[in-house]
Amino acid sequence: MGDNAPSIPRGGAASRLDLDYREAAWHRLESEPFDVVVIGGGVTGAGAALDAATRGLSVALVEARDFASGTSSRSSKLFHGGLRYLEQLEFGLVREALRERELMTSYLAPHLVKPLPFLYPLTHRAWERPYVASGLALYDTMGGASSVPGQKHLTRAAALRMFPSLRRDALVGAVRYYDAQADDARHTLTVVRTAARYGAVVRASTQAVGFAHESDRVVGVRVRDAEDGRETTVDAGVVLNCTGIWTDEIQALSGGRGRFKVRASKGVHIVVPREKITGDTGLILRTETSVLFVIPWKNHWLIGTTDTEWTHDLAHPAATRSDIDYLLERLNAVLVSPLTPDDIEGVYAGLRPLLAGESEETSKLSREHDVARVVPGLISIAGGKYTTYRVMAADAVDAGAEDLPKLVPPSCTDKVPLLGADGYFAMRNQVDALAAEYGLHPYRVLSVLDRYGSMIRDVLEPGLTAAALLSTVPTAPDYLLAEIRYAVTHEGALHLEDVLTRRTRISIEYPHRGVGSAAAVADLMAGILGWDAAARAREIDRYTARVEAERASQTTGDDAAADAVRTAVPEVRAHLADLGSPAVAR
Ligand SMILES: Cc1cc2nc3c(=O)[nH]c(=O)nc-3n(C[C@H](O)[C@H](O)[C@H](O)COP(=O)(O)OP(=O)(O)OC[C@H]3O[C@@H](n4cnc5c(N)ncnc54)[C@H](O)[C@@H]3O)c2cc1C
Repeated sequence: MGDNAPSIPRGGAASRLDLDYREAAWHRLESEPFDVVVIGGGVTGAGAALDAATRGLSVALVEARDFASGTSSRSSKLFHGGLRYLEQLEFGLVREALRERELMTSYLAPHLVKPLPFLYPLTHRAWERPYVASGLALYDTMGGASSVPGQKHLTRAAALRMFPSLRRDALVGAVRYYDAQADDARHTLTVVRTAARYGAVVRASTQAVGFAHESDRVVGVRVRDAEDGRETTVDAGVVLNCTGIWTDEIQALSGGRGRFKVRASKGVHIVVPREKITGDTGLILRTETSVLFVIPWKNHWLIGTTDTEWTHDLAHPAATRSDIDYLLERLNAVLVSPLTPDDIEGVYAGLRPLLAGESEETSKLSREHDVARVVPGLISIAGGKYTTYRVMAADAVDAGAEDLPKLVPPSCTDKVPLLGADGYFAMRNQVDALAAEYGLHPYRVLSVLDRYGSMIRDVLEPGLTAAALLSTVPTAPDYLLAEIRYAVTHEGALHLEDVLTRRTRISIEYPHRGVGSAAAVADLMAGILGWDAAARAREIDRYTARVEAERASQTTGDDAAADAVRTAVPEVRAHLADLGSPAVAR
């Protein structure tokens, strides 16, 4: 690197993912060899980058679109053992997941991952209560020590007091149990920034488009800047393919066959206002093939999910009218006051990366993960659940370590709190003082604290000199303008959709789906990112077109029609290469 080449600061400042960082990161990708190059900035790739960096390895993480733009922003947002998997006798998976849930809520990310009570309505007299009780007894104990309360048995009357919107004839009694919840996109982003804090070079809008080989071994990754089209080759001791539903695409790109195949299963959620359903807990409802969750989410409910095979565009899975009707129908079967499509504030669809197996039904495929060496120097990891990302990441790095000519220490991420965790509990106790300092309501400070943890001062401080930043985002009053600024100055947001759909969740939390806030948010972003009037207008146009296409797809009757409508909108990242996704070609 020449003397004038930009450099990445060390220590805490390394997690400030602004445009200078982005440029410096490109120079390092061009000029330095890395022990580990991770492809994919979902939770698995972010976790792998953090795992490898904290083992003392040099690491680069490249993400084609935005961090968490794949499945990791589109889940049910639960850190859970999975009662359903207990029934499928996947004890190992459940035990592992419960251990992770405890670690996240108590130590690694208590600012982001919160315990949440659920009600399990019983519909059969006699046999069901002991059956559920014994399952939950396992659930309460198999993950080891747990800081959430154990199961509690309720009569029908007590359950209806806890959840008054439930129809009386929808249950004969209930059991309350606990799981945990997080904003998945924000959590993934925090893992990415923590990896950067420990020295990983992390870069969004950076797509892997090919591999460099030495004989039959992968020795590097060809990457393209999806914003401006420039390309370079990154030297790698080992490459970790953490691309979820794109696993097969990357395996094919390497010339290797890969030991496993990944199938995409679509899951749709709808978002409705909190006041439409009265209840103090979440709900878990049985369906013919799976379960339906009704999950409290700030002043909304998330309701999902469906589980059907998807064979269309992987980047933009689209919900259909039939998906929405299915969710409403299942939900309305247990509600005193049924909901209608007009009650829906937001809709999102995600694709589960399931290891292809014998079963035709995606709901029966295993949620276990698998790691395989595709060719020497390239490891693929796929399957699993969000909850177990840390374990998956450690397994991927363990496998990759065998390709490195050095001794690699074991994973230590169970002892590495994510950014914002350190000091979080103390700051919660100091909410009133923080509120007075910034002239905000304590409740507002609490909600900001639960998104940024102890980094809250970095978010709010600019508001002390530019007071407008402490006012709310037009038409999205749950968020402050300071958060929009921070998304660009520290969290690597490059486009309007990054801010409206992942740094904030405005796109699913307001009936205007972000369009009403687009102009104000674009104004603030333009000043920091240097957009001219044409760039600002393009961002707003693209975002609006995306929302209109999503709305239109939600009126169609089948996946093919929904996909055609949704994919007609051009990508906001103009230089993404088409790698010929196998799922589309099928
Ligand atoms: C509807 C639904 C509900 C779910 N609910 C839960 C839940 O409540 N709890 C739970 O534990 N799990 C849940 N899951 C599962 C969980 O969300 C996933 O297992 C997890 O998010 C997968 O993360 P990932 O990093 O492997 O994949 P992804 O998040 O998809 O990340 C892969 C990344 O690779 C990038 N990429 C692709 N190609 C390239 C390339 N060429 N170059 C660079 N980058 C590339 C993509 O852009 C993407 O960001 C749910 C899944 C779905 C679909």
